[in-house]
Amino acid sequence: MKAVRLEAVGGLFLREVTRPQPGPEDLLVRVEASGICGTDRHLFKGEFPVRPPVTLGHEFCGIVEAVGADVEGFKPGMRVTGDPNIVCGRCPHCQAGRINLCRNLSAIGIHRDGGLAEYVLVPQRQAHALPLSLKAAHGAFCEPIACCLHGVDIANIQAGSSVVVLGGGVIGLLTVQLARLAGATRVLLSTRQAAKRALAERVGATASIDPTQGDFIAAVTGSDGLLPGGADVVIECAGVAETVEQSFQLARPGGTVVILGVMPQGVKVALEPFDILFRELKVFGSFINPFTHRRAAELVADGALELDELISREVRLDEVPGIIANPAGPGEVKLLYVA
Ligand code: NAP
Ligand code: ZN
Repeated sequence: MKAVRLEAVGGLFLREVTRPQPGPEDLLVRVEASGICGTDRHLFKGEFPVRPPVTLGHEFCGIVEAVGADVEGFKPGMRVTGDPNIVCGRCPHCQAGRINLCRNLSAIGIHRDGGLAEYVLVPQRQAHALPLSLKAAHGAFCEPIACCLHGVDIANIQAGSSVVVLGGGVIGLLTVQLARLAGATRVLLSTRQAAKRALAERVGATASIDPTQGDFIAAVTGSDGLLPGGADVVIECAGVAETVEQSFQLARPGGTVVILGVMPQGVKVALEPFDILFRELKVFGSFINPFTHRRAAELVADGALELDELISREVRLDEVPGIIANPAGPGEVKLLYVA
């Protein structure tokens, strides 16, 4: 079968490899769709620890082709999405229910072979059923949705909450939609590209703003601003120092800041502890998808999210190495391999 193999930092190739054999608790899944993510670019550049060779792809769905002897509840022909993040269940964090902080965390598509291939192995504990009636490309969104759901859960959005989302990539655009579903009535998206601002408004943002124009903070929090006094919740989805710093300034007194964007390790930002104390800001990190993959699959199955608008292009497997090796093009949101 064909697979997108990371063979070394900077060395990504479409290769012919042996189709994997399912172990007793594995599903062999014929991949229908597999998303390309910023994390794949980080892995390519050696910015996240990884031990090549490995097949990339941690956002995928497909059809069960075969099951191991001990698999229950899944049969050939079913459609599944795989939660890529595998936890040990034994460490203190797992036993405290904080499975995303597992000491032995490993991931399909990072530490073991992933879904940018014709077939992928999915341990039955990681698999969730999806209806066959669904468009296959939508199934590949379960993983990023599950990560955004965790952030939105942490933010404790309530009916009538006001929310600012910073960064109009796929994570920001999914977060906008989940914030609306959670009950926010005012959701402002900040991103630099006009095409992404227009897209955000099509998928549910009640307003959008270009943070590079004028006094951005005053335009949001000022008495004549879009959210006078600041937002109940700010969700940082860009992963750059500038937006992290803006997050604290955009929250109202007593408001909540959730950091979803990943900044490169070691990079620091300027923040004023006095301001966090004086305004009693609540600041949270949101890491991956603890217990949210099932709900993400249900949201996708229910058609609760606008996903087609987020698909910039469907590509062939042989195009994937070149795409991951290069920065995202202007206006591009989600690129997917679709079989
Ligand atoms: P992305 O496509 O790179 O989106 C980030 C967006 O931020 C860009 O589209 C860019 O749009 C915008 N941006 C950049 N600089 C900005 C600025 N100064 N002000 C406002 N917007 C700015 O990435 P993504 O796939 O959506 O992911 C977003 C972040 O979430 C990444 O850091 C990713 O690693 C992280 N992530 C975290 C988790 C988790 O578990 N916490 C899971 C998945 C992904 P413009 O050019 O329009 O400004
Ligand atoms: Zn653990």
